[in-house]
Amino acid sequence: MVGKRVRTRFAPSPTGYLHVGGLRTALYNYLFAKKMNGTFVIRIEDTDQTRKVEGAQKDLIKTLEWAGIIADESPEHGGDFGPYVQSERLDIYDKYCRQLLEDNHAYYCFATHEELEENRQLQIKQGLQPKYNRKWLPEEMGGSVPSSQIKKKLDEGVPYVIRMKVPDYVSVWFEDIIRGPVEFDSATIDDQVLMKSDGFPTYHFASVIDDHLMDFTHIIRGEEWLPSMPKHLLLYEFFGWEPPKVAHLPLLLNPDRSKLSKRQGDVAVEDYVRKGYSNDAIVNFVAMLGWNEGEGSEQEVYSMDQLVEKFSLERVGKAGAVFNVDKLNWLEKQYIKSRSSEDLIAVIKPILLGELEKKESLMPREIITSDAYLSQVIELMRERVGFEHEFVTFSSYFYFEPDSYDEEAVKKRWAADTNALLRDFVLILESLEEFSAENIEASLKEFVAPKGLKAAYLIHPLRILSSGVSFGPSLYHMLEVLGKETVLRRIVKGIEKISFQG
Ligand code: GLU
Repeated sequence: MVGKRVRTRFAPSPTGYLHVGGLRTALYNYLFAKKMNGTFVIRIEDTDQTRKVEGAQKDLIKTLEWAGIIADESPEHGGDFGPYVQSERLDIYDKYCRQLLEDNHAYYCFATHEELEENRQLQIKQGLQPKYNRKWLPEEMGGSVPSSQIKKKLDEGVPYVIRMKVPDYVSVWFEDIIRGPVEFDSATIDDQVLMKSDGFPTYHFASVIDDHLMDFTHIIRGEEWLPSMPKHLLLYEFFGWEPPKVAHLPLLLNPDRSKLSKRQGDVAVEDYVRKGYSNDAIVNFVAMLGWNEGEGSEQEVYSMDQLVEKFSLERVGKAGAVFNVDKLNWLEKQYIKSRSSEDLIAVIKPILLGELEKKESLMPREIITSDAYLSQVIELMRERVGFEHEFVTFSSYFYFEPDSYDEEAVKKRWAADTNALLRDFVLILESLEEFSAENIEASLKEFVAPKGLKAAYLIHPLRILSSGVSFGPSLYHMLEVLGKETVLRRIVKGIEKISFQG
């Protein structure tokens, strides 16, 4: 394998959504391939027809592409090693299975579900690890079933599976890139089913055949597949093939260190996309679940290009990686802080246009959808939003009239003379020639000082009237961005609705 060009694969089953663990597996395979100038492939493992979900394949690939993980070869883009969907490769598995039957590495098994279950229960009762009891192992393979009986069953059309015969008294050894040397005793390995009664191969059989035929140099996948390795390696040996190198990634854990589960939060990448997380933040976050650049590096924010440059399998740890959403939220904020206005405008404009379809705005559309206006909103809100969409949703007062006023804040901030003072102050605002933050601030101070009042006496009511809420960016700058006409309209309309509550 020395000098061979790196080929890696992500091999999801189309059973629904993309799990965050799946995204990490895909990402590490992608990063490693790209770093080594190799090829990254997507192969769809749909041999379990009962779990197949319509449309899942397309969605998986779409979500990966959203994350920037683009395959060089895939069902959608083709390639020299296709087909890339296992259900389209049944004749291939069939051919290799025949070879194993001929070579006495595999045998027919006619045991029924009930029989297998009975056997399993019996073994558990006896304190044994449940394993197939080899009832159907043929005579010529060391069992007790004459070939005539097997032929008879086949002729009668009795349903069967095909099992591999695990050799007795051998130990299977391999070197995992992340875990180091791993050894299994064959006594612990079951005679794995290779072909199911529906004529489809099992995951184990199909993935070994395909990993070999598609010429992968490295298999990078989750730790849950580690116990399957000895079966896979035996298959490689039966065929006389050289196995690829393997790396099993650490488990993902909840913050309480239990295995990552739906019960403690979202595990579907699509859920995070829906909530508004950006692809950059998610990729960065997922990359750090098990990998770090090493001592001496304080860097936490990485672009995809930087990840490609710095990633190495040697720096993936064995210990479980804690999935901490606070870290993801922090990264999301870092991205928003550092993105250019143009980039952010490109994201938020379509969201705003969508809102404008649903809701009427009293502000001139050509102004509030202009790049100039949006970049002012962005600069005011950059430090305050957690997601890009919040430039619209969390700050809707930049585009729409407040439809309610924070009641608690009104109670706290309205005094008996507030509305009268505001009516007078409106006249001053109206007379301002330049409606700038500076001028608004100066005129407010000038207005309240002779009355022995502090600016805060009107700052809070002005904020509530113009935004509906009691928090936000600097009031004066916010009013400047909203513009004179909008601000005056909102104050005048608002004080008709709000009054001192005693
Ligand atoms: N289809 C398997 C899965 O869904 C792939 C495991 C592997 O990478 O070998 O995770």
